[in-house]
Amino acid sequence: MPRPLNYDLHCHSTASDGLLAPAELVGRAAANGVDILALTDHDEISGLAEARARAAELQLRFVDGVEVSISWGGITVHVVGLNIDPGNAQLQQGLQSIREGRKDRAKMMADDLARAGIPGSLEGAYTYVDNPNLIGRTHFARFLVEKRYVRDVKSAFQHYLVQGKPGYVPHQWATLSDGLSYIRAGGGLAVLAHPGRYKLTRAEMRKFLAEFKDGGGAGIEVVTSSHSTEQYLEYAILAKEFGLLASRGSDFHGPGESRVDLGKLPDLSPDLKPVWHDW
Ligand code: AMP
Ligand code: MN
Ligand code: MN
Ligand code: MN
Repeated sequence: MPRPLNYDLHCHSTASDGLLAPAELVGRAAANGVDILALTDHDEISGLAEARARAAELQLRFVDGVEVSISWGGITVHVVGLNIDPGNAQLQQGLQSIREGRKDRAKMMADDLARAGIPGSLEGAYTYVDNPNLIGRTHFARFLVEKRYVRDVKSAFQHYLVQGKPGYVPHQWATLSDGLSYIRAGGGLAVLAHPGRYKLTRAEMRKFLAEFKDGGGAGIEVVTSSHSTEQYLEYAILAKEFGLLASRGSDFHGPGESRVDLGKLPDLSPDLKPVWHDW
């Protein structure tokens, strides 16, 4: 049997909270043997043009993507949009509206860290920010590592920046129906990102998936760096049950920071219908 093409449909550049510029990211993907790459920055599409241009030079197939931040049932859920039209005005305005709250949120996060005895985190986090409209928790995590409050980014998210810990500020992102409508307006395919990361019971996950499908959701990440081998199976079963297309993506953020590199994931099980079945 020929080896299936290597699709990596989820990763981040310096346009959001990744460590590599879009062109560097594409170069790394090509070197890793990725055949088809989607760049999916958080709430941001400004890195796509550079990535697409570099992909053309390297003869790597490129998919325009985005990872949309959504609030649902009191938690944050991420939905990846694939094959979006970056020129679509409704999509652009929707993403802009999601990005808008990030600066004030960052100030409040820094105030909360200061109350916990950690000064200077706003300025510190911004030293890691390339796109000032896209400051996020990862930039604060890198500052906390730099100042030795924690050993690495992963531990920063154990001791800070999450619910119940210093630096956490609840935030209202897009509603599920708005987030999905932005992706649909841009002609994209909406894919639930890393479903195993959400603290949802089975019943809540089913409720979510029913609403997601109703709102036009089309796919679900089955193979992602967030999942264990057991979870590959668990979400493969849910994909089939809900008639969702299956996706594969590393969610790579940067060398030394991400456990799984671009393209370095197991293949999707051949009994799943992949998001790329008609590409
Ligand atoms: P934000 O959109 O500002 O809330 O930041 C979300 C980002 O924080 C995610 O995309 C990850 O890059 C990062 N993140 C969240 N939780 C963790 C974790 N447990 N370990 C490492 N990174 C995390
Ligand atoms: Mn991220
Ligand atoms: Mn995510
Ligand atoms: Mn991501």
